[in-house]
Amino acid sequence: MDKRIIMPAMPIPLYDEVDVLVAGGGPAGVAAALAAARCGASVLLIEQRGYLGGMATVSQVPAWCPFTDHKKPVIRGIGLEILNEMKSRMEPEFQQLWRDKLDWVPIDSEVLKKLLDDKMIEANVRMLYHTFISNVLHREGKVEAVIFHNKSGTFAVKAGIYVDCSSDADLAYHAGGQFAKGGEEGELQPGTMCFVMSNLNRPKYMEYCKEFGGSLKHAINEAKAKGTLNVVRDWAGISWVNDHTAGFNFGHIFGIDGSRAEDLTRGAIEGRALVHHIVEWLKRTIPGFEDGYLVLTGEQIGIRETRRIIGDVIVTADDFMDCRSFPDDIARNAYFIDIHMAKPTSGMTIAHLPAGESHGIPYRALLPVGIDNVIVAGRSISTDRATQGSTRVMPNCFAMGEAAGTAAALLTKQGLNSTRSMNIDELQKQLVRQGAWLGNEVHAKYGGKDAKR
Ligand SMILES: Cc1cc2nc3c(=O)[nH]c(=O)nc-3n(C[C@H](O)[C@H](O)[C@H](O)COP(=O)(O)OP(=O)(O)OC[C@H]3O[C@@H](n4cnc5c(N)ncnc54)[C@H](O)[C@@H]3O)c2cc1C
Repeated sequence: MDKRIIMPAMPIPLYDEVDVLVAGGGPAGVAAALAAARCGASVLLIEQRGYLGGMATVSQVPAWCPFTDHKKPVIRGIGLEILNEMKSRMEPEFQQLWRDKLDWVPIDSEVLKKLLDDKMIEANVRMLYHTFISNVLHREGKVEAVIFHNKSGTFAVKAGIYVDCSSDADLAYHAGGQFAKGGEEGELQPGTMCFVMSNLNRPKYMEYCKEFGGSLKHAINEAKAKGTLNVVRDWAGISWVNDHTAGFNFGHIFGIDGSRAEDLTRGAIEGRALVHHIVEWLKRTIPGFEDGYLVLTGEQIGIRETRRIIGDVIVTADDFMDCRSFPDDIARNAYFIDIHMAKPTSGMTIAHLPAGESHGIPYRALLPVGIDNVIVAGRSISTDRATQGSTRVMPNCFAMGEAAGTAAALLTKQGLNSTRSMNIDELQKQLVRQGAWLGNEVHAKYGGKDAKR
């Protein structure tokens, strides 16, 4: 875009001054806002949609990735609290089925939206929905104000600490942060337009699937070979919220950079077209789906990967494989490296840790180099590309958000607005007290209960 117009300088009303501003209300932002408010900070949470939840509600991602390392829960604290409270609001059959399970629990996005509103109100978090953070005023490595737009106009907000949970690191980007994006050739994981169907017959579907190992793999492969189904992978993620309603994570749209509006637009159009094609095939082909009804597609195509900040430390695949702990760990990750193919002709990249193992996520990976009062949490923290393929999932984002919000509150309580002044012992101690799990060593040091669980 070479042509430009010059806007006249304009005074921007100062909307508010708070201890902690949280940008974005996905899993990371929700946990950051709740943690900061519970630690006594005044918190403003800004979210561009009319509800919280991020990919789970915006893009209808239908299930929580594992909260455990297959032996014990590694994501605890606020993340586990939200998982359990969501379950407790579901239908009795769902509760019975999922009561003791912490891995791959299906999400009911309407239950989640209401739950998250309630949690924020209860914790005294101020929310501003339908509001987009569009710029940042910054000087000498410090953000001085965040600029946002909404129906009421353009405003500024000042905070002691800014927590960027926008998943594209929009705030750090506008503040002049440094970034990596995708692979060596700029390749990015594909997007997926998730969707919800109702009027399905789960028992009939399960009976049909039983003879094929419980999945649709064989049917998808058969249809691909016949040319009646146009998808790349022979996998469909189907998450049942009751016997007649399921969320689907099925199909890919390639070459979408979720930090570009043009790509999001193409993703929306191509994504919806693919969903209609898939739904017609499901209804035509799969027993139990004959009378299925497409209820909705995501408001936005689901985005797996955009910017990663360059932080004070970059967590690498070696750290992941070696299950490395860092002195400033604020969370642990046990999810596998799960990189979806950037092109229809390439394959998935998968690497698992042994059951019971995890690696640490250090506080420094949340601190963008050259910016002193911003903490980034969620999908865009400082990792290499392989590790981002693992840390990106929602349970991890809850844990990182809880740590970021807690740090922001502890700092502002002491009148500090440099994220690098954080006393790590104090942060870890507070996180353990809140129920987070940072590994047996940290847990034992700070007297957390059930360290060996
Ligand atoms: C198709 C797909 C399938 C997936 N499957 C799973 C799965 O099965 N289980 C799992 O746990 N994870 C899964 N993931 C990963 C996971 O959903 C995301 O990586 C995770 O939600 C990221 O959390 P976050 O809090 O960083 O950001 P997000 O969930 O992306 O939330 C960011 C929030 O910030 C808001 N926002 C962004 N920019 C601005 C701005 N400038 N101003 C105001 N608000 C803004 C957005 O509206 C959004 O609400 C999947 C992802 C995709 C795309």
